Amino acid sequence: MRIYLDHNATTPVRPEVADAMARALRETWGNPSSVHAEGAAAREAVEDARAQVAALVGAEPRQVIFTGGATEANNALLCAVRRRLVTSSAEHPSLRACVEALQERGVAVETIPVDGDGRLDLVGLEAAASQQTDLVSLIWANNETGVIQPLDEVARRLAGLAPLHVDATQALGKIAVEGPWDFLSASAHKLNGPKGVGCLVARREAPVLLRGGGQERGLRGGTENVPGIIGFGVACELARKELAERSAHYAALRDRLWERLRGIPGARRNGDPGSVLPNTLSVEIPGAEGDALVQALDLEGVAISAGAACHAGAVSASHVLLAMGRSPEQALGSLRFSVGYGNDEAQIDEAAQRLQAVLERSG
Ligand code: PMP
Repeated sequence: MRIYLDHNATTPVRPEVADAMARALRETWGNPSSVHAEGAAAREAVEDARAQVAALVGAEPRQVIFTGGATEANNALLCAVRRRLVTSSAEHPSLRACVEALQERGVAVETIPVDGDGRLDLVGLEAAASQQTDLVSLIWANNETGVIQPLDEVARRLAGLAPLHVDATQALGKIAVEGPWDFLSASAHKLNGPKGVGCLVARREAPVLLRGGGQERGLRGGTENVPGIIGFGVACELARKELAERSAHYAALRDRLWERLRGIPGARRNGDPGSVLPNTLSVEIPGAEGDALVQALDLEGVAISAGAACHAGAVSASHVLLAMGRSPEQALGSLRFSVGYGNDEAQIDEAAQRLQAVLERSG
């Protein structure tokens, strides 16, 4: 029996989502921009999905701009920054890469540090932001450690100073995300939806993300990914209905896993355990080689991650853990477990046992 504990990398598509998408591929194949009945049916389905996404994030449907995922949403919003950006040292690569491009263009970028538990320096943030700041862009819940930044407090400190963008890709479907942000990016495949579809939600005027045929109120050209958008909508609807129950279930599994692993000599959790995603457990095992452990566990039928899957193939230490003051050795010896749909207690116990066995073998 394989045990999948890498839901921060991606999640299995829920059957309800797959069914809705399969139906859409067969039946709702019209172009939403067309005036005829086929087009109208597709348009209506996209608008229904927009309402479902909006309901989960606490926005007006018209504020939801569908994209090809969170990477696109992050890129498009950040590319519009002309003068000053404030961000953090623990961002996702899709944001870090944009920051480098902005700096090459001469944009002033202030990077706010995080502490040893991954918590943002809020005083530094407030000091860095000013009315000259075009955008403050922060990862809400970290993909590697699961650490959740205190958004209410962040927004209070930024009030009247600068617009706030949150990368809520890992937060959506795991915690409530209606909070006081101005822009939010997310991706469907992190909450049991399909890959290659996501959104930028803009409570303020948004820049044009892609020039094209006027779709998405002229903000994101290109014929809509109708089945993907429908799948995203269903995934959001399920998440909205199940959020409380889901996060309690995930947290119980995560805590059970930590109970099973905390006895490993020297093992310690990465990230503030008081403010962490219910599904995420990042553990440092002294002297371990995270990458080798991930491969050994894979052979034992357990899927986890040594850092972000987005770094797969690269053996460099996680920049998030380095930003938290870990040494490269400590970062490379860290494992990320992320639970989700389909996991149960028996799987957690079994995964912990298989890890113990692998560790004993590798001595
Ligand atoms: N932001 C965060 C926090 C993520 O975890 C991810 C996915 N690893 C992304 C952005 C990018 O999402 P996508 O690859 O679906 O565009």
